[in-house]
Amino acid sequence: GNSYQIYRPAMEKRVNNYFQIVSEFHKSLFRKEFELYYQPRIDFKTGRLESVEALIRWNHPERGLIMPMEFISIAEESNFILPLGEWILKEACRQNKMWQDRGFPAVRVAVNVSVKQLQQPDFARKLRDIMEETGMDPERLEIEMTESTLMTDTNQMLITFEELKKIGVYLSIDDFGTGYSSLSYLKRLAVHALKIDRSFIRDLPEDEDSVTITEMIIGLAHNLRLEVIAEGVETVQQHNFLLERGCKKAQGYLYSKPLTESQLAEMLGTSGLHFGPVIETEDVYV
Ligand code: C2E
Ligand code: MG
Ligand code: MG
Ligand code: MG
Repeated sequence: GNSYQIYRPAMEKRVNNYFQIVSEFHKSLFRKEFELYYQPRIDFKTGRLESVEALIRWNHPERGLIMPMEFISIAEESNFILPLGEWILKEACRQNKMWQDRGFPAVRVAVNVSVKQLQQPDFARKLRDIMEETGMDPERLEIEMTESTLMTDTNQMLITFEELKKIGVYLSIDDFGTGYSSLSYLKRLAVHALKIDRSFIRDLPEDEDSVTITEMIIGLAHNLRLEVIAEGVETVQQHNFLLERGCKKAQGYLYSKPLTESQLAEMLGTSGLHFGPVIETEDVYV
């Protein structure tokens, strides 16, 4: 165009990587190299799994397991997120229906959705089609979006939110507290839950700022009658802090890492599922 940039070797590396990844995407989707892992979330009251978050992985034939941080932003930039995101929704619904058919206890599945997907005028229609095709119950599907998605104040977005509300899926705000958000959106858009970002949980309970922000988000959620879920809980100290502050749900390595579908199915099929640290600190629950 009319602008020019100064050449830097680091930029060349990034650009090569970008085109290399983009060129492989479609082939990889066709070859079924993508896979959903599921991270359990626990309910503090029962110590049981209450829902799972679907997390994408790329099983690359040469490079091995590739994590989403390495390719999601490239998928978004190149619009590959549209077919990939559709596959993710379909796969999550299909597998959830399979658990239901096997008689496992009801579990909601949360799917991360990018702003580009939500900006598609036919997103809600596609979602409806997927739910119909897979026989998925809308109450069992949760859509996770970031704060910046909420702030994309386009007409299309508002229409899509209305449609999602009609379909009856559960909506949550991911990484809450890390972006800019207008609090009025939370009420207006019929959001159900806030997820406290891992960066605030990480330094609990020592870091004062993290304590303040976490308490504030829990308070905000309670006042707006929203659910609150803590992300990235790794220690019993963090768990106890959250429990004492009235946070009722969490996910993190303390309870479980993201699992493959077969690992999760095994867990769901086992009755009396409990998460270790929760039983060990049983006295906290009285
Ligand atoms: P996110 O949605 O905030 O997901 C939580 C991330 O934190 C996951 O990383 C999860 O494995 C990780 N995590 C959970 N508990 C712990 C913990 O206790 N300690 C630590 N250190 N990490 C924990 P993952 O799977 O690498 O995903 C990273 C990000 O990639 C996600 O962040 C999400 O923004 C994006 N992503 C993942 N799957 C999808 C997808 O299917 N679609 C879209 N659009 N984005 C996705
Ligand atoms: Mg998420
Ligand atoms: Mg998150
Ligand atoms: Mg995060």
